Amino acid sequence: MREAGRMGAQTLVLWDVDHTLMETGGVGFELFRTAFEQASGQQLIQAADVTGRTEPAIFRGTVELQNIPYSPALYDRYAALLSAGYVACAGEMAQRGRALPGAAETIAALTQTGKVVQSVLTGNLRPVAETKLQTFGLDAGLDLDVGAYGTDDDVRANLVPVARRRAAEKYQMDFPARATVLIGDTPSDVQAALDSGARIIAVASGKSTSDELRRAGAAVVLPSLHDAQAVVRAVLNSELSSSLSWVMKTQVDAVGPAVLGIDELLADQPRDVTGAAMRAVPGQVAGSGLQGWRRHDGAGFGTMCA
Ligand SMILES: [Mg+2]
Repeated sequence: MREAGRMGAQTLVLWDVDHTLMETGGVGFELFRTAFEQASGQQLIQAADVTGRTEPAIFRGTVELQNIPYSPALYDRYAALLSAGYVACAGEMAQRGRALPGAAETIAALTQTGKVVQSVLTGNLRPVAETKLQTFGLDAGLDLDVGAYGTDDDVRANLVPVARRRAAEKYQMDFPARATVLIGDTPSDVQAALDSGARIIAVASGKSTSDELRRAGAAVVLPSLHDAQAVVRAVLNSELSSSLSWVMKTQVDAVGPAVLGIDELLADQPRDVTGAAMRAVPGQVAGSGLQGWRRHDGAGFGTMCA
């Protein structure tokens, strides 16, 4: 099997859906409430926190909050009602919701590179994800067969190997974790990437601010998808960044904490993929002769210039 990430091979890009590519404009919560009430026969009084969580986990959390006994049959009823609700209300969602600015253009720009396979990594049920993306014309360019969904696992990080396996089977090509890039808007997306060894491009288009996403560990944070080429650069640079930064981390750690304490800006200041100036320490990538910089502003090791 070929290995992705080498020259001419592919990077697996896994998009989060809600608040990264699109928003339902409140229709999503209304459909959740309707499906919950029809499935359980009880009024929705308190919903579990939804941000970054998978649909089955949200449902179980809500059932628990309302002291309703959970059963797989109850969940199946809810899932069927929710999926049907999205289809029935797609027109209303199209009116009240929106594709986020730059989403379609960024998917198209990544497709045009010929170097990526794109799908989703989402807490949504697959039928719901399909309806959301189709409603806003965002499904072209995404191979939804190789995505990972809320029904695959409660833990978001565990969805990464699911998608990698599906992509490997379909494309007969290995997608190592370092050739897998998540794009998402919450600290949960960042954590899923960090825990699974994938790369993360965080987009501050949801509730989380850029600072919150950086603090969660994202080395690359974009304000939005407005600049499609910034995303393309971040995706295509990410494997190089990953391997360089890992080597550099080893090197810097070996040199010791005195180096980590350097707090001056370099004369020739490196910039990260967003064009933002980096505060960084200089160094040489072990065994390669490459000169590079390692960020030391708390954003981690993810962005390197060589
Ligand atoms: Mg999201």
